[in-house]
Amino acid sequence: MTAASASDRPIAPRPGVLDIAPYEGGQSKIAGQDRVIKLSSNEGALGPSPAAVAAFEAASKTLARYPDGGSVALREAIGTRFGLDPARIVCGAGSDELLGLMARGYAGEGDEVLYTEHGFLIYPIAASSVGATPVKVAEKNLRTDVDALIARAGNRTRLVYIANPNNPTGSYIGLDELRRLRRGLPDGVILVIDSAYAEFVTADDYDSGVTLVNENDNVIMTRTFSKIFGLGGLRIGWAYGPAHIVDVLNRLRMPFNVSTAAQAAAIAALADRDHFDRAVALNTGMRARMTAALTAAGLVIPPSQGNFVLARFPGGVAQAEAADAFLKSRGIIVRRMGGYGLPDCLRVTVGLAEECDAACSALAEFMAGKEGRRG
Ligand SMILES: *Cc1c(COP(=O)(O)O)cnc(C)c1O
Repeated sequence: MTAASASDRPIAPRPGVLDIAPYEGGQSKIAGQDRVIKLSSNEGALGPSPAAVAAFEAASKTLARYPDGGSVALREAIGTRFGLDPARIVCGAGSDELLGLMARGYAGEGDEVLYTEHGFLIYPIAASSVGATPVKVAEKNLRTDVDALIARAGNRTRLVYIANPNNPTGSYIGLDELRRLRRGLPDGVILVIDSAYAEFVTADDYDSGVTLVNENDNVIMTRTFSKIFGLGGLRIGWAYGPAHIVDVLNRLRMPFNVSTAAQAAAIAALADRDHFDRAVALNTGMRARMTAALTAAGLVIPPSQGNFVLARFPGGVAQAEAADAFLKSRGIIVRRMGGYGLPDCLRVTVGLAEECDAACSALAEFMAGKEGRRG
């Protein structure tokens, strides 16, 4: 190869990369306001367990040392807590990393990756980043449509991503529907069940995906410490799957992908059952209270199994925008939903009681005012 032939080729990223719309996280600041209520990123309302914070601080003594690349103690702690074989668990820098690695491991140019209409935006990013084609499949009443996914899956389909419960709709499908989905997909398609909000679910017929993983060799479940455990800033998640998929993820991930501090904090977080139970109880109570208050204010709130509620404005996109501006003027940050195909909605994270009440009373005030009544 000569230098001339090398320089003749223009520098360009791989196909698909420039199709990616960079992910935008929830806003955390409002210009001119120093105290804000941030209900835009579904972060755990209680924050982390004090034991997790202490473990994080203790990890500062060993910063010169590389982490345990296998996250062995953490995988054992996860295995003990959830009754799973640690050898079939892999940890990641957030579950986002693992969701992305599934695309890298199993999809490429010419392949299709399915996700649902209002599904998490990381899925099309993961697909495009490996040159695969992300395919959005319609939902039914803001819920994963099993029949539509089965009908759309074909020869080129390699992966189906679903979030269960889904963000931002809060809806879920039960174990029977999950099984029906798996049965209806071709065997060569891997079903990725993203259960980031599993701990918040109160529905009886829910399964986090563990049952499906145990029953099949082509299903993987992802989980996170970013939501109920309040450790979003540390970047730590995990996946449970069949040995052959876990092996692929272990080959693809960077050798030291989870920091020492993250591993230590996550282990301590798992051990603090009191904090966990309080976080669940708070969420269950506040989610119901917000749903009732916002419904009474005239908004349409689909039932949520997560730590957030989706609020649909009867007056449409302009009303949702005006409500968002009104909330900001009160120092309250929620999430606009245009990127998820729901521009007439806002998503409000379940926070502490006073945060939820502030958001709900501001929205009630807005709906009772000139802009609100326009709907
Ligand atoms: C928040 C969230 C995650 C978690 O991502 P991490 O990388 O683990 O912080 C995964 N999936 C969905 C649907 C989410 O909303």
